[in-house]
Amino acid sequence: MKIGFIGLGNMGAPMAANLVAAGHDVVAFDVANVPAGMTSADTGAEAASGADVVITMLPNGAILRSVADEVIPAMTPGALLLDCSTVDVASARDVAVMAEGVGLLAADAPVSGGTVGAENGTLTFMAGGSEAAFAKASPLLDIMGQKAVHCGDAGAGQAAKICNNMILGITMIGTCEAFALADKLGLDRQAMFDVVSTSSGQSWSMNTYCPAPGVGPQSPSDNDYKPGFAAELMLKDLNLSQQAAGDADAATPLGAHAAEMYRAFVEGGGEGMDFSAMLPHLAKQGRS
Ligand code: NAD
Repeated sequence: MKIGFIGLGNMGAPMAANLVAAGHDVVAFDVANVPAGMTSADTGAEAASGADVVITMLPNGAILRSVADEVIPAMTPGALLLDCSTVDVASARDVAVMAEGVGLLAADAPVSGGTVGAENGTLTFMAGGSEAAFAKASPLLDIMGQKAVHCGDAGAGQAAKICNNMILGITMIGTCEAFALADKLGLDRQAMFDVVSTSSGQSWSMNTYCPAPGVGPQSPSDNDYKPGFAAELMLKDLNLSQQAAGDADAATPLGAHAAEMYRAFVEGGGEGMDFSAMLPHLAKQGRS
């Protein structure tokens, strides 16, 4: 396929490289650098012109909207606009309406799996959009990832992503709190892991991504909390969950509190650290 790829950052660059390696004709555009090994365009519209599929992998919804304004008029009717960024649900829906209004297919397909998943082609995609859009995206999602779930109409992929990450933020904080309490109660961290990881307190945060160094499987905590999944990206996703909850009038008290705790952590020096570094952050605090 002829693919326009816009946004070649930490995630987009390896995703585009996997499409090139699979034999697709990729024309890439980024306001910063386009990596070597693929054709680069001077504008987003140039990358989109004549493409069967235009993939975007951008920082946020405002940038997605401005890129969509530029590329949609340049796209061929019947082509697919496939946004893999993590953005707010409202932007995902508005961009899909704009694209479908001029005869394009549109899907939102945010990812889970981080830069390692992007490099290895093992991302999980959660997609929103029509059956036709998902069918057209599927061969490309199969190259860039190991699993793609069609979650529903436009915006459903973003909704699934922020709901998942709201659970993740809350369970990570809960796991870190429990370790900090266990420390003060004199409970050995390994014993705590052995019990909780096989008891009803288990979660991905405990069992797979344990925030305590030297305990459980290898995770960023064993590497000085280098990300991994950076705390500021968790804050971004928690903020998106709260924006969506506000729009939908949904009660998310723990999500709101998790967002506030990650905001304080990021602003207080946690930026650039893995989100599981909430453990040393909490462990050095007292009750007040
Ligand atoms: P990044 O900042 O490394 O890359 C974004 C790229 O977009 C940059 O290269 C930037 O120059 C480019 N860009 C910005 N404005 C542009 C414009 N107007 N036109 C063209 N290019 C433009 O970010 P990333 O880590 O690659 O993340 C991309 C998206 O994926 C984000 O929405 C993020 O939330 C999501 N995500 C990231 C991870 C991760 O682990 N990094 C995991 C899951 C999802």
